[in-house]
Amino acid sequence: VAIVSVFLWNACTPVKSGGQQDEIGQKVEDLLAQMTLEEKVGQMNQYNGFYDATGPAPSEGDAKNKFEHLKKGWVGSVLNVRGAKQVRELQKMVVENSRLGIPLIFGLDVIHGHKTLAPIPLAEAASWDLEAIKKSAEVAATEASAVGINWTFAPMVDISRDARWGRVMEGAGEDPYLGAKIGVARVKGFQGEDLSAPNSIAACAKHFAGYGFAEAGRDYNTVDISTSTLFNVVLPPFKAAVQEADVKTVMNAFNIMNGVPSTGNAFLQRDILKGKWGFNGFVISDWGSCMEMIPHGMAADLKEAAMIAANAGSDMDMESYAYVKYLADLVREGKVSEDKVDDAVRRILRVKFELGLFDDPYKYCSEEREKEMLYHQDHQDAVLDMARKSIVLLKNDGGLLPLDKKQSGIAVIGALANDKNSPLGSWRIGSDDNTAVSVLEGLDKYCNYKYAKGADVAVGDVSFTYDVTINETDKSGFAEAIALAKKSKVVVMVLGEHGFMSGEGRSRANIDLPGVQQELLEAVYKVNKNIVLVLMNGRPLALPWAAENIPTIVEAWQLGTQSGNAIADVLFGTYNPSGKLTMSFPRTVGQCPIYYNHYSTGRPDVKKEVFWSHYTDEENSPLFPFGYGLSYSKFEYSDLKVDDSDSNNIKVSVKITNTSNIDGEEVVQLYIHDKAASIVRPVKELKGFEKITLKANESKTVEFAMTEKELGFYDIEGNFVVEPGAFDVMVGTNSQTGLSGSFDLK
Ligand code: BGC
Repeated sequence: VAIVSVFLWNACTPVKSGGQQDEIGQKVEDLLAQMTLEEKVGQMNQYNGFYDATGPAPSEGDAKNKFEHLKKGWVGSVLNVRGAKQVRELQKMVVENSRLGIPLIFGLDVIHGHKTLAPIPLAEAASWDLEAIKKSAEVAATEASAVGINWTFAPMVDISRDARWGRVMEGAGEDPYLGAKIGVARVKGFQGEDLSAPNSIAACAKHFAGYGFAEAGRDYNTVDISTSTLFNVVLPPFKAAVQEADVKTVMNAFNIMNGVPSTGNAFLQRDILKGKWGFNGFVISDWGSCMEMIPHGMAADLKEAAMIAANAGSDMDMESYAYVKYLADLVREGKVSEDKVDDAVRRILRVKFELGLFDDPYKYCSEEREKEMLYHQDHQDAVLDMARKSIVLLKNDGGLLPLDKKQSGIAVIGALANDKNSPLGSWRIGSDDNTAVSVLEGLDKYCNYKYAKGADVAVGDVSFTYDVTINETDKSGFAEAIALAKKSKVVVMVLGEHGFMSGEGRSRANIDLPGVQQELLEAVYKVNKNIVLVLMNGRPLALPWAAENIPTIVEAWQLGTQSGNAIADVLFGTYNPSGKLTMSFPRTVGQCPIYYNHYSTGRPDVKKEVFWSHYTDEENSPLFPFGYGLSYSKFEYSDLKVDDSDSNNIKVSVKITNTSNIDGEEVVQLYIHDKAASIVRPVKELKGFEKITLKANESKTVEFAMTEKELGFYDIEGNFVVEPGAFDVMVGTNSQTGLSGSFDLK
């Protein structure tokens, strides 16, 4: 098989050309020339927000020490400072006291909103709506910038295939093509057209790299992946963030990958990111990840960790205190060259200049702007739109949905229906508790219903700092719920995970309905089968019993501030659901990791024999596949046409007809399979999609064009290759169902 073309990774330049960049470059050089070694190292040092009016007071000595560092210009950035007043005071302390007055850059995890919360990122991804996703990031940036935040540690662009991993909620799911598009949309939303504008904040593509491949889904665990997986699955969203969206920062990761901790990985940070890709922003370590190279077994002590990280291209140290303590000495001892320090400082200063912090260190943040922007009505509208689009209709047998506004006898069961906190989801640093519209509040606008809790999901204090304790025993509310269900016509059951059961450090070995909820579901089903199951969860769940028995299932994730309104709008048909899963839902946790774009074995589906690749006690297929989601409309696919006369413009078209009487939206998905290649290619790969609106009984033809970009792949050296040969193509409504064709690449 011949390699017909090889592209350089950095074929397109990420650097803004023109005067502005040169001018900033000059300013950076002028400033750098005036800096002492300690001041340079200071720029590479980030401290946690010890100055937080709402958080616990820092220890006396610690605070004193850090304030002194700030005044000397030994701190380049702080994270977790909240509120315009605090930001202004801290910035003032630095610019007015330090010798060169270099402003701080304030970072925060603005993951799915600041105060007004959008759905968790995995839910947003299910919209497949890049404009809405970009808009959601814009809203987050507007609120965060109003309180003085210049930089968010988002988006997380880690591809994740294992639902046990708690951080799947923070990403876009299992597919690198979709993950790259969504990552780019988010970066563009945060950074805006002009980084120096008041509403723009710097974004951060994280965690570089491979963090989503933690073995057995256990957070922080070992990552061992092939070079093919690295180049074709893990890296593409990062590369796109750098080259297509000009992301200003990249965060490395806690994990080791193929034996090397990411923070000390020169191959990833220097050769690929800054070398091949031409990234000109800076790399921030993950929290304490420099220090973690000691327990990983790479560095003997913190000083050695500082040396390894700095040499490997980790530009800023988050909370290891490694650079501030040792880096200047390491330079004097000749163990880290001053050139490397200069390179890191240049990158950091450049971002500060681009943000406009040297023109206005307070970057338009004020208590007035804060008051005006937080919870702004426009933001509520945007996150409501996003929340509706994130909902995925998993099953609607028997047509219980949409509910009629005149429907009587509606029962609502489940603690999550009356919860204003859990739907806000994980990773909401800086948000206010209990600010979500609950499902009950959402339903109030549509109907009369009767409510019974049934059972709590969690017990005790459920806040960010505590592990969620699941209610495994208390069924005292069952009797009331069963009695209510018995006398009702329709039962809306809201079940799932508490919002803090996913996120960082929250892996699960079981991914079923936690606690007594499965039992509650089955008990209610015994007396009333007309159940609409509304799921709230931060990861795919394995719910084979529900999928078989419950007629109607709505995946409502954790949808943020407007959660209950969005859910009610979908249940009553004000919004026709259009979301599609971006992670496969397994039948059982034993199938994890499970993903649609796997390779074929040498023994694929030959069911009659014993020795084929399968489980003896479970299907191979997922419960709900990648790309899956229903609508109240019905769509039919026909007339698949493939034109391969031009190898750099393979055209595929298909006609889609809405055969129902309800207007609706459909995400049309294009998949290919390269049948024989020098490195085996997945059985299917998403290479295009389009979200279309079809009026009742309307038809539309959707056309896709594929160029070498879609048809090639990376070899094990990371070179992009395009190989001629036979391809299968499928266009459909999800990764398993569609019309198939084929083409030849000449
Ligand atoms: C997480 C990062 C996050 C950082 C700062 C770490 O524990 O892994 O994703 O940005 O903390 O809060």
